[in-house]
Amino acid sequence: MEDPSPAAGALQDIAVVGAGPAGLAAALALAHVGARVVLIGPPPARMGTGPGDTRTAALLQSSVDLLKALKAFDALADQAAPLKAIRIIDTSDRLLRAPEITFLASELALDAFGYNIPNTALVEALYAQATQTLHAVEADSIARIEPAADHLVLTCSKGTTIKARLVVGADGRRSICRAAAGIEAEEWRYDQVALATSFEHTRPHDFVSTEIHRRGGLLTTVPLPSPHASSLIWVGGKTKIDGLMRLEPDAFRAALEERLEGLLGTVGATGARASFPLAGLSAKEVGVRRTALVGEAAHILPPIGAQGLNLGLRDAAALADCVATALGRGADPGGDDVLKSYTAARRIDIATRTFGVDLLSRSLLTDFLPLGAARSIVLHGLNRIAPLRRLVMRAGLAPPTALPSLMRPGVGP
Ligand SMILES: Cc1cc2nc3c(=O)[nH]c(=O)nc-3n(C[C@H](O)[C@H](O)[C@H](O)COP(=O)(O)OP(=O)(O)OC[C@H]3O[C@@H](n4cnc5c(N)ncnc54)[C@H](O)[C@@H]3O)c2cc1C
Repeated sequence: MEDPSPAAGALQDIAVVGAGPAGLAAALALAHVGARVVLIGPPPARMGTGPGDTRTAALLQSSVDLLKALKAFDALADQAAPLKAIRIIDTSDRLLRAPEITFLASELALDAFGYNIPNTALVEALYAQATQTLHAVEADSIARIEPAADHLVLTCSKGTTIKARLVVGADGRRSICRAAAGIEAEEWRYDQVALATSFEHTRPHDFVSTEIHRRGGLLTTVPLPSPHASSLIWVGGKTKIDGLMRLEPDAFRAALEERLEGLLGTVGATGARASFPLAGLSAKEVGVRRTALVGEAAHILPPIGAQGLNLGLRDAAALADCVATALGRGADPGGDDVLKSYTAARRIDIATRTFGVDLLSRSLLTDFLPLGAARSIVLHGLNRIAPLRRLVMRAGLAPPTALPSLMRPGVGP
């Protein structure tokens, strides 16, 4: 029987597996540099038909510049809240408690560090752009990937087969692409769970994101576009978070108000809640055997410091640079040169973020006194020494290596 899919048959430059935010951004970035791209993955759950993804993503300015370059930001502008300041408050009962500290974007002459965007809106905007831009979008899952002479053969669950020179594994934690390429991954757990939701409040947030540190727990509010609404990440032990998940809305509202100690006034309606066990993952390689891994297929970080998707979007943009170079030379986009240059481009950024976020998470979530004390000393130093504070802010905003082309301001329309 003839295969009806436009993706089947002819050899494609690139097949991107996974229509999460990292996969969608990678597919659009690769099409932007001239590759013939097929995207395969279950489409995003429609907004409003269930609790959906309750998370938002705090995206740094470089990630927003990528969204602009991919023509996806205009559709999101109404739902994106600028992050003008980040405040850290330590309410722990440690001997050496950290001082309250506020990082202002204006200290770096920026309007905002970035924007907070609901995940559902982000994925829908990128998917809409993908259906208009890409060679083909297959609403299916990949069941099998096998090597052939100069390409890989992907078999979809519904039976369609797709041939591609490069497979981009953007299929998350249990990546079938990672397994098919024989790439091992190290995984670890933190014994903590994050609850993600949103809430309304009477006092305006003034576009300040606030982290409240407490021994063994962390609560972060992140502004939404309404001055009286914020998203929330509440990290704590499993028993504590399970208890919060079970509360009726009114009881949860009261628990949150008590925990915020009046920071945002009276807490009003709260949104759907979802919980995420904190985990880490690091793939041993990100580019081998015609396979490049992006996003959570390559690395998972705890949601502390808002680095996870920013890192995944940098994967997408860096891979586009490597493929652009190959296509410009008329070379194979899945060849070893491309995968080696992708690996070199990503190694330091992924390693430093994984190490940094892991250390920060452990210093916040552990009762191990020296680590908590060391963090307090660092925060004391940052509070007093403005040049050091600016240095840390810059390090938080940009990778230690040069930004990929599509993340440099002015590349977008
Ligand atoms: C509570 C919380 C808060 C966070 N906040 C932030 C933040 O503020 N800023 C930030 O930068 N990051 C944040 N993150 C991290 C961010 O949410 C993730 O990095 C991001 O969602 C991962 O996107 P992804 O596309 O890599 O993976 P996923 O979203 O998991 O997408 C993988 C996709 O692959 C598809 N798939 C799987 N298997 C197959 C297959 N066989 N065939 C085809 N498709 C397949 C799935 O259906 C899915 O659509 C947060 C994370 C958590 C848990």
